[in-house]
Amino acid sequence: MFDPEKDNLQIRCPRLGSIIPFRYCLISGEDSMPCFKIMDCWWEIFDVDSYLKENLPQDIYQGLASAKPKPKVASIVEIAEEAMKKRDK
Ligand code: SF4
Repeated sequence: MFDPEKDNLQIRCPRLGSIIPFRYCLISGEDSMPCFKIMDCWWEIFDVDSYLKENLPQDIYQGLASAKPKPKVASIVEIAEEAMKKRDK
């Protein structure tokens, strides 16, 4: 069961440069799936690994747990796309 207290926790997103809630990270990846960096960004704040394991479908959790860092160029393109989306809002 998702926990509203955890979903409202906030950190500075290294990709967007702004403060965002955990719930955003849960839907900001491809096809509204969790962001591929969710483990890296949240492990110091709470036990994100266990939380996701308990709350996500197993295949989605496994995909995140085995996610490899993307090449730098792909990350830069994603960041640029996020910035353009943010600008157009
Ligand atoms: S998980 Fe993704 S969206 Fe969330 S703070 Fe990290 S980089 Fe930003």
